[in-house]
Amino acid sequence: METHNPEWTATLIRLLALASRLEDEGHYNLAKLARAAVDALGRRAAYKAVAAAETRDLAEEIEQVSEAVSRLGLGEQLPAALRRGANALAESRIPSISETPHPYVCRTCGHLVIGPVEAKCPTCGAWPDTFQWFAPNYWLEALDPVAAQETLRRTPLQVAALLDGLPEGSMTRDPGDGGWALRNVVQHLRDAQEVLHYRLELFAGEEHPLLASKAVWTWATQEEGRPPTTREVFDDYRSTRAGILARLEALPIAEWWRTGFHEEFGEVSIKQQVSYFASHELTHLPQIESLRNQLAVEE
Ligand SMILES: [Zn+2]
Repeated sequence: METHNPEWTATLIRLLALASRLEDEGHYNLAKLARAAVDALGRRAAYKAVAAAETRDLAEEIEQVSEAVSRLGLGEQLPAALRRGANALAESRIPSISETPHPYVCRTCGHLVIGPVEAKCPTCGAWPDTFQWFAPNYWLEALDPVAAQETLRRTPLQVAALLDGLPEGSMTRDPGDGGWALRNVVQHLRDAQEVLHYRLELFAGEEHPLLASKAVWTWATQEEGRPPTTREVFDDYRSTRAGILARLEALPIAEWWRTGFHEEFGEVSIKQQVSYFASHELTHLPQIESLRNQLAVEE
């Protein structure tokens, strides 16, 4: 593996050190290149390692990584949070924000804090607000209100184009790889949207609502109470979408920053909730496209 090559590790660290020096001297355009290189090197190595990791037990993998992280001196907060999360997985639950709080890393020296940063960095004296927050996923921050509304308007049209002309038999065709049929993907989009719809209603009725964590992906293959055809599921999804868009258009801009307490992610604003949902939908378009292509090959 290339990461066993000492040059790989040395270059990664040199790039990070170079980026810090460049930022200190105000050369931000150069620093961004060094930071992008570090991210790309790390992700490329991980991309190759993912297949091997998939064969190992997840809980055991977390345990081994936690031990390695302890040995490398990152402190006990992170391994402890990883273990609490692993215990939740063992109980078939999603870990809550109290079990796995948000991590923050000092941009200057790398000191890691689990949960809100309340004091200056003990190693380098950096101020709490300068630490880097690690969001549970990029969807929360991906889209501003204007871009999110535009995406919410566009995605159903893209889904409609991908499903155009397909008979119900194709929608329900089992892809044979253990994955979802087209119908399940459409149901999943509708289910996820129902969660957004419900949460927007909670925000409309309460100042700081509690947002329960939902394992939405587990509902996609449940058929109870579903409309008989995929076309009807899709039509229902589109009409609810129109209602959501009308509600968001009427929402004063400052309201987008109001927060609720999300069991899984902690404080989450309307803006983050809408960004999350709109970005999440986009990740299902390649899935629909590939199922459609597979049907074309089978014909
Ligand atoms: Zn520091």
